[in-house]
This record gives sequence, C-alpha cells and structure tokens, in this order.
Amino acid sequence: MKLILLGPPGAGKGTQAERIAERYSIAHISTGDMLRAEIKAETPLGVEAKSLIDRGELVPDEIIIGMVKNRIGMPDCENGFLLDGFPRTIAQAESLMGFTGIDRAVCIEVPDESIVGRMSKRRVCPNCKRTYTVDVLEPDEDGGYTCLDCGTKLIARDDDRPETVQHRLNVYAEQTFPLIDFFEARELLSRVDGDKSMDEVADSIFELFE
Ligand code: AMP
Repeated sequence: MKLILLGPPGAGKGTQAERIAERYSIAHISTGDMLRAEIKAETPLGVEAKSLIDRGELVPDEIIIGMVKNRIGMPDCENGFLLDGFPRTIAQAESLMGFTGIDRAVCIEVPDESIVGRMSKRRVCPNCKRTYTVDVLEPDEDGGYTCLDCGTKLIARDDDRPETVQHRLNVYAEQTFPLIDFFEARELLSRVDGDKSMDEVADSIFELFE
C-alpha cells in the first residue's frame, strides 16, 4: 500500500501517519523528520535546510525529491509506505507520480481558525520524536512537559513560533493546497474531517481502507 497524507501544518499528519504505518506495516516517511535528522547531524544539507525551515520556507524541490526517491527504494518500503509532508508542491507530486504509483492520497481537513491554536500547543520529544498536544499531558512542576514514552523533556519546534506559523500557512495555501485538486483529478483523493479527536480521525482514516 502506497499512501500520501495531505493537510495543513498542524492537522495531525505526524500522529496519524504513525498509527497508519503501524496498522498496515508500511514505512512512515516524514520528510520533515528526515530534514531535522540532517540538521541534528550538521550535514551540509542540514545546514542549508535549517535556515529555510526556521523561516517557514520550503526546501528546494530537487533536494527533497532526491531524498524521497532514495528513501522509498530502501528495503523497509517493499511492503509499501506512507508519505507524510511530501509532496508539498505540484513539481514534487508530478515527479513522485513519475517514479512510483500511489494508491491513495488522504487529506486531513482542518479549518484555518483551529490550526494556529493547535500549533501553539504542539510539543515534540527531541529523543524519540513523539508529538503531543499539551492538552493530553499533565504539566511538570516547572510548567514544562515530559515524554510519556522515554521521559525526555518535550520542546516546542522552532518553526512553531506564531510569526513562522502564519508564513507556513501562506506557503501551504499557495504551494501545497493545489495538490488536493491534483490528486482529486486523478481520482486518488479521500478527505477526512480532522477537526475531531485523534482517535476519531484515525477511525475515519481506517474506514477508508475497509
Ligand atoms: P514538517 O515536519 O512536515 O512540518 O516539515 C517541516 C519543514 O521541513 C517544512 O516547513 C519545510 O520547511 C521542510 N519540508 C518538509 N517536507 C518538505 C517538502 N516535501 N518540500 C519542501 N520542504 C519540506
């Protein structure tokens, strides 16, 4: 099964992607996570990507396309994969359709007014990468939060600052939103209502495949 998860930043793609990948035993490919790993390792790509990501800009298509093409050729993708955060531009989508087929693109729809609030509440574990909404956590004594899986102190992503969030939403509207029409025109699109609890959204996604 080869899937794409679409939706605005803060729609809950990462959380849903983990659940879907686990349920169908397919590889979860998050281009954002791959780029953050490059940044952490201070590779030349990581250094270039960091300034773009921190400003809420997209990393150039040719870099991302090469990264994904290489990644989906790896053995853990033989049973299928779920792309989370890719494609983000029409050029990426066209290239993807050229080098592999896709079974379905699932779009998690969330109203604009919910997104900024969701992103201000997002925290991520710098160790195991699990993402949380603070609503589901008890704060520590210092007002911070700790990962339930590995006990590491959670952090807010640099690109979740309110001024960057607004720019990311503009980039989404201009460059990524047109992908919904792109996949709809190819009869590959399914939409789910993302303005619900994570469990309800997961159930609606699983229903699509049953
Ligand atoms: P994400 O974790 O998916 O929200 O991605 C974080 C940031 O990484 C994005 O705001 C972009 O700067 C960059 N990025 C991730 N995926 C892509 C992509 N497919 N094309 C271009 N830039 C990307």
